[in-house]
Amino acid sequence: MLNHATQRRQLLKIGSAALAMIPVIAFTDRASAATNAGMRAALKYQDKPLAEKSCAVCMQFIPGASAKAPGGCKIMPGDTEIASTGYCTAWVKKP
Ligand code: SF4
Repeated sequence: MLNHATQRRQLLKIGSAALAMIPVIAFTDRASAATNAGMRAALKYQDKPLAEKSCAVCMQFIPGASAKAPGGCKIMPGDTEIASTGYCTAWVKKP
């Protein structure tokens, strides 16, 4: 059986670990709710189309609430700010 002092030390350790994780979780959550910077950079995402190539006519695009509202992309997990007028190197014409 653990004595009081040991239990207290363990609780303090758990408590400070939990506290230390809060900013990380909050930051990760915020980042994933808006943009997926890593994938955007890897696929050279831009807010403007490349000639006739735009997210609106790409098979990976997940439309937003309206035609002009930002949407998502099947290959950019967590990114909710994909412009229908955007483009990246993974563009594939919608069938
Ligand atoms: S793959 Fe690229 S071009 Fe296609 S919807 Fe996603 S971000 Fe837009």
